[in-house]
Amino acid sequence: MIRSVDVPALVEQTRAGTPRAIGRLISLVDDQHPALREAMAALAPHTGGAHVIGLTGSPGVGKSTTTNALVGVFRAAGKSVAVLAVDPSSPFSGGALLGDRIRMSEAATDPGVYIRSLAARGHLGGISLATPQAIRVLDAAGFDVVIVETVGVGQSEVAVAGSADTTLVLLAPGMGDGIQAAKAGILEIGDVFVVNKADREGADSTVRDLRHMIRMGEGSAPGGWRRPVVRASAVDGTGIGDIAVSVGDHLDWLASSGELRRRRTARARDEVSALAVAELRSRMGDLGAGGTLDQLAADVVDGGRDPFAAADVLLESVAG
Ligand code: GDP
Repeated sequence: MIRSVDVPALVEQTRAGTPRAIGRLISLVDDQHPALREAMAALAPHTGGAHVIGLTGSPGVGKSTTTNALVGVFRAAGKSVAVLAVDPSSPFSGGALLGDRIRMSEAATDPGVYIRSLAARGHLGGISLATPQAIRVLDAAGFDVVIVETVGVGQSEVAVAGSADTTLVLLAPGMGDGIQAAKAGILEIGDVFVVNKADREGADSTVRDLRHMIRMGEGSAPGGWRRPVVRASAVDGTGIGDIAVSVGDHLDWLASSGELRRRRTARARDEVSALAVAELRSRMGDLGAGGTLDQLAADVVDGGRDPFAAADVLLESVAG
């Protein structure tokens, strides 16, 4: 049964930064609850102020450690930070893991920090619909920075990384890690690269290889963004300030070059068309259940209609 939701009250409390209200709105996103529509409409005028930073990399590379350290640096600079942990491969919202992380960081008592994980309910596509919606909630809640941390390096992670203004790609020293990155297509998505675990052997060569690969793939247009490779050791905080500086430089560049608007428009485009396709699928599913599709299929088998004509009829019936 669907519980009724007092959306105006939730939106008002979210804008005031009340964690409980923010959490409830993100739960609406998790569930793709019918009240989400009203919530998104009310939030829309209050979005666009947050710097959305995507952080991705293979499991174990140090994403959680780096995120926690970055939160500390942003807080010290007076910025409020929300962290959205997205695991496209997990249908669970990682309550236990998240609980540990919150206890680990100072976030539990700091009203300027909010940490939440996002579940991938249903199919993989669900997370790419839900991520921008959850970001919108956090943006409207007034956080200066929203860090979207994704697990793993694969197709869906690349899609999720596309939700950010600035994408941080984390790597660690190790055999052919740079080559792995090139194969996985993450060299293209990174705006700032971080070689974490720089305290480990092989960091120098990983940084060198990565710089080389990045330069090769980079245009020489003046005014373009030259993607930095930052060395860090997140466990002891080394280099975390440098990451924050690079991320800030990237935001300045985005804003002054017009790229921020272009990226956000491209994102909105993807989001709108994904929503429309999802709606179309759901309406077509309803028609299938109602027998319209069965009837059209029977017509095609009987030779009464060709498949193109049948598809036209189907599209007309879902358009209303
Ligand atoms: P995630 O899976 O990418 O989120 O990685 P975690 O942040 O959970 O880190 C995985 C492991 O690597 C943990 O045991 C961390 O303590 C360790 N780790 C993280 N950063 C560093 C680092 O800079 N140097 C070293 N030596 N270990 C690190």
